Amino acid sequence: MITVKDLRKVYKLGSEKVIALDDINVTIYTGEVCCILGTSGSGKSTLLNMLAGLERPTRGQVLIGKRDIARMDEASLAKFRQKYVGFVFQSYNLMSSLTALENVSMPLMFKGVGKGVRNKAARQMLKSVGLGNRCDHKPTQMSGGQQQRVGIARAFVSKPRIVFADEPTGNLDTKTTIEVMQLMVQMARENDQTLVIVTHDPEIAEYADRVIHLIDGKIVSDISRGPGMDHLVLEGQFSNQETVH
Ligand code: ATP
Ligand code: MG
Repeated sequence: MITVKDLRKVYKLGSEKVIALDDINVTIYTGEVCCILGTSGSGKSTLLNMLAGLERPTRGQVLIGKRDIARMDEASLAKFRQKYVGFVFQSYNLMSSLTALENVSMPLMFKGVGKGVRNKAARQMLKSVGLGNRCDHKPTQMSGGQQQRVGIARAFVSKPRIVFADEPTGNLDTKTTIEVMQLMVQMARENDQTLVIVTHDPEIAEYADRVIHLIDGKIVSDISRGPGMDHLVLEGQFSNQETVH
């Protein structure tokens, strides 16, 4: 469970201030597939980066379990991310000099898993994203959709508790977008992992159990879908609450 309390992020550029996030209060539950939806500049990536401990808030708390990651020192944060968090990026962020197999096995290497075991796990993972025949390919030898599937395999291979994805389908065509979204959601469901996806595209939000809509750094609606999810509509602070069944 991720609980955000009174979160605010202000960027200062010379004498100018940008309030990127203002008074964010939200809880994301374990196993939820949650979309952060909003137009460009609404604060989506800033919020994701705070949730993942990649940036520090100006004010407020980000509690993952009982730990406030906004207050952790850098070394503990790095360890925390390595242990519990996976990332999927818009531009894939694969290591260009490494093969698909080596890219996917990297998170396991950082965890100290031996070569035999991690290669077996990476191979299995590439198979389950439909790339069993691309293990030895380097990123430039694969299509964008294939690279993103490698990115997904890498994010999930170490079974992190939470996977964060910032515009994961931003560079993909419609058909590949559907494949990639279905794959990510399926992977998260298999292990009851929390998946937080940032997108500007309402169609992507259709895949989520929960859609948190940001405008100008504020949450304007928080909608949970599906049976048994209506209790997740939160705390009366939003201007536009509804539950879709
Ligand atoms: P996009 O869909 O274009 O990626 P976004 O919703 O992810 O947009 P953010 O990147 O979170 O938006 O930015 C929110 C606001 O904060 C924007 O007004 C942006 O200009 C500002 N901002 C983001 N990062 C910084 C920074 N490092 N320094 C100053 N201002 C920043
Ligand atoms: Mg962004």
